[in-house]
Amino acid sequence: MTTPGDLADAIASAGTDLLRSSVPAAATPTPDGSLSLEASLPLDGRRWVCVVADDSGRRWTVPVVRDGSSVRRAQAGDGVAEALVERIGAGPLEQPFALASFTSRPVRGERGMGVDQTNESVVVGDAAVVKWCLHLAARGNTAAPPAARRLAALATAGFDGMPGLWGLLSLDVRAEAPLLLANVTSYLPGALDGWDWATADARGYARGEIDFDQAVAPATAIGELIARMHVALAASGRSTATADDARRWASAAERDLATAVARIDGPEGDRLAASASQIAAELRELSELHATPLIDIHGDLHVGQVLRHSDPPAYAITDFDGNPVSRVDEHDDRQPAALDVAGMAASLDHVGRVVLRRGDDVDHGRVHTWIGAAEEAFMRSYRQTLGDMGAPDLLDERLLRPLRLWQECREFLYAAEHLPHWRYVPDQSLADLLGSAR
Ligand code: ADP
Ligand code: MG
Repeated sequence: MTTPGDLADAIASAGTDLLRSSVPAAATPTPDGSLSLEASLPLDGRRWVCVVADDSGRRWTVPVVRDGSSVRRAQAGDGVAEALVERIGAGPLEQPFALASFTSRPVRGERGMGVDQTNESVVVGDAAVVKWCLHLAARGNTAAPPAARRLAALATAGFDGMPGLWGLLSLDVRAEAPLLLANVTSYLPGALDGWDWATADARGYARGEIDFDQAVAPATAIGELIARMHVALAASGRSTATADDARRWASAAERDLATAVARIDGPEGDRLAASASQIAAELRELSELHATPLIDIHGDLHVGQVLRHSDPPAYAITDFDGNPVSRVDEHDDRQPAALDVAGMAASLDHVGRVVLRRGDDVDHGRVHTWIGAAEEAFMRSYRQTLGDMGAPDLLDERLLRPLRLWQECREFLYAAEHLPHWRYVPDQSLADLLGSAR
């Protein structure tokens, strides 16, 4: 028998090992000081879902298992994900935990997802995916993304463009937005994300292996999917951006541009600095764009969040659990739909840049044709679907261009933070956007 006191002691003494996930490339966070137990959900006699915090109030979700006489971080195979799936639909949990249940059936056997992730997903019985949302908003952060609300709203609206939702485990923290600790969805066998399938399509077209219609059809499918997603999200409420909101966007965008100029060196940095005043002038236009409709959006949308599965291919949007740093506005949960649209359009362009960079005997002209055609097909089908659904006003066209330029600034920041060589992508995209062939 492990009492809550024993568990708290075991967690305090386990140290950083407690935060080590089984995702191969994931860096283990370095806690500030010691870890303490904030909340624990017992699933059975020897398995728990815990929330732990360090001395600065940073928090993590940790699946925990008792192994003999000691307690350690659970990995795929230890049965914590399986036990969570078993709990779905088995009645309410004790406060402060909540488990929203949508569907479930008994499934057995755990394995890791086997892909690089920032979070950790465990496939249960080849039927369900338990995604542990490892990195939680820090203590006192009231701007946690409304992930659970978005997923529940989509499921309730019958939106079928995402993996089917089984359950959402969250923790209610007084005076904060609830923290989403895990989501459980249907496993889509053989699913590939867009950094794989879209680059394969663009490369295939550029090498003459697939025809134009085949190469561009997915962009049409995604435009429709995202429009339907926005309409479903808008059903749970909308508001209107104020003049203050618009001013805040403009200054956040200009700040990102300034940071990118300061942090990117070399020829790409020189080119960015040379066009900075032109970009800044366009970003400043955001400050005039108040009165735009705001809804819950995905918030971190790019081709990597779109899974292709089944035959004939179907598409499913993932990763609604959100990345708080990518939000336009930290003060309101709702955002302009154009933010998702600009993010997706930018990523189609970036797919082309990746294909050009890798070479592999591709016809460069055909890659550029693919970039233009894919973006156009995506936008046409997005607008058409919004129109068909009676919601054309959800997209404020005026925002697209400045948000797209802002996205390229964020790509530079991503390169500066995580992946230095990625800078060629925003460098080349900006050249085309600004009409200066580089
Ligand atoms: P992260 O937050 O770590 O980026 P994602 O939710 O984007 O996690 O998932 C990472 C990867 O896991 C995806 O790119 C995809 O390859 C795979 N994946 C995610 N959800 C599913 C699913 N329901 N079925 C099959 N594969 C999935
Ligand atoms: Mg992802």
